[in-house]
Amino acid sequence: MDVLEVAWAAAGRRRLGADHRPGRCARCGRAGEVVPLASVVSKVFTAYDGWADPTTGAICSCCAWGYRHPPLRAGAHLVTRSGHLQALTATQVAQRLQCPLNPAEALVVPLHPGRKHLMPTAVWGRVTVEDAHLSWSAHDVVRLEAIRRLRGRGFGSRMLTAPAPAFPALRRLFPAAYGEVMQDWATVAPWRERRPWMDLALHITLSDSPTAIAAAPPRPATRKARP
Ligand SMILES: [Zn+2]
Repeated sequence: MDVLEVAWAAAGRRRLGADHRPGRCARCGRAGEVVPLASVVSKVFTAYDGWADPTTGAICSCCAWGYRHPPLRAGAHLVTRSGHLQALTATQVAQRLQCPLNPAEALVVPLHPGRKHLMPTAVWGRVTVEDAHLSWSAHDVVRLEAIRRLRGRGFGSRMLTAPAPAFPALRRLFPAAYGEVMQDWATVAPWRERRPWMDLALHITLSDSPTAIAAAPPRPATRKARP
């Protein structure tokens, strides 16, 4: 099964729309129960690349769910071949990417929530972002860790895409940290040529910056049991 089928099954195989009838799905090409395509995608929808036959004018419940279930476009999701679908925060995505992605998992991470439908194009063993399916190797794990350390030292998203650390930010650090910063900067260098990886890393590490940590609401006090 592809990623969308597993996600749909994990979500309870929901049927969307009305006017169900037998037919062939324009997107996946499977025969079965379909609904009118016009009830699922708008007239201005043009992303038919890879569709089996858009001229059928009909779409199956699984594919319809992939385009019509709003949470899929709003936030990140992890799907596993074992039949698991989990919504993740950006911080949880960063935690998951602390080790390589294995072929039995698919991560879908909208970097611009609401803009594109990503789940229908998701691929096993890849992180799907807008217009790209990214591998996630041990090298990427090391680079992500370097980004987190640099964020923790006050380097913002725009600074991190520059070829060298900004001097004002570097000057605020203890001189003993300069060597580590330069090392981390070099570790991240390949991502400056591979922007989808860099854009993903910046998106999921926003909460690691000192300003984000300072702006986080205080944890509620633990209520003590009354004697
Ligand atoms: Zn389909």
